[in-house]
Amino acid sequence: MTQTSKEERMRKLYEEVLECRRCNLCDGRKNPVLGEGCLDAVVMFVGEAPGRREDETGRPFVGAAGRLLDSLLEHIGLRRDDVYIGNVVKCRPPNNRRPRAEEIRVCAPHLEKQLKIIEPKILVPMGNSAIDYLMRHFGLKPAYIGKVHGKQFEVEAPWGRVFLFPLYHPAAALYMKDLERVLVEDMEAVGKLLARFGASRI
Ligand code: URA
Repeated sequence: MTQTSKEERMRKLYEEVLECRRCNLCDGRKNPVLGEGCLDAVVMFVGEAPGRREDETGRPFVGAAGRLLDSLLEHIGLRRDDVYIGNVVKCRPPNNRRPRAEEIRVCAPHLEKQLKIIEPKILVPMGNSAIDYLMRHFGLKPAYIGKVHGKQFEVEAPWGRVFLFPLYHPAAALYMKDLERVLVEDMEAVGKLLARFGASRI
């Protein structure tokens, strides 16, 4: 797929998300947050849903959790624009509550289209919502995050083999300091896997 056609498809998807009324989250949001980054990224990170700062700016991971994600990326020699960052749910749930199963179900087709545009080789779900959704989506039995974080699962996507690599959500490490060390180690493992592809972009 050419860069132009990826850009066009992502722009069209943004318009769809802007018009989307499949659940009530659109009523309270300021901006939908589709995602951002390199459309040819080898690695795509997927969080749960936009928070307050993301809702205000329309950009993913720009609050405190985002700053930790930036530093984790930097730790393995990556910048935000080397990767693609998105979320399972595109509109902010009120008071940052977890998205409901039905909200995830109706929003997921947007993420599925996004995946088919990026065609990542490494997919990094962060936190329970993203891990649970993506493991099921690829036919894996979802498991407790404590068991699956930092492990790689090989799955088949329409664009080829993908490594699913679950991580703790960076926001969790803001509350439980011990998790920061775990996240650093898991991110180093993502870096090693990425090195096997020889480049952060296709
Ligand atoms: N948490 C998420 O899951 N996604 C964001 O974009 C920001 C915080």
